[in-house]
Amino acid sequence: MSICHACGQEKKTADSCGGKIIFVGGLPFDRITFGHEHGDRWQEFDRCPECGVARGGLHHPGCDLEQCPRCGRQYITCDCVGGSDDVTNSVAAALHHAGEEGGRHE
Ligand SMILES: [Zn+2]
Ligand SMILES: [Zn+2]
Ligand SMILES: [Zn+2]
Repeated sequence: MSICHACGQEKKTADSCGGKIIFVGGLPFDRITFGHEHGDRWQEFDRCPECGVARGGLHHPGCDLEQCPRCGRQYITCDCVGGSDDVTNSVAAALHHAGEEGGRHE
């Protein structure tokens, strides 16, 4: 069992994390989903070999494979402002917002 601390789902069964948008250097970017990285490196995988999301899903924060939408490098190590904490925050904020709209209570 490995629960994502941002979306609260079990990583092995969740098809996607949350939070489509991240702010990098103060600007909003669409996150790169699994299977859309440059070079089709993971073409033969149905799920992210690192964090377990399905093809087309948003990686869980801190995934090694998530590509930075701004510079195209590995997001957790690139030089853009951010890193896994920023993803976690944006995911948590997005899910919290969605929860409020849907009338869901924690
Ligand atoms: Zn997640
Ligand atoms: Zn991943
Ligand atoms: Zn970057």
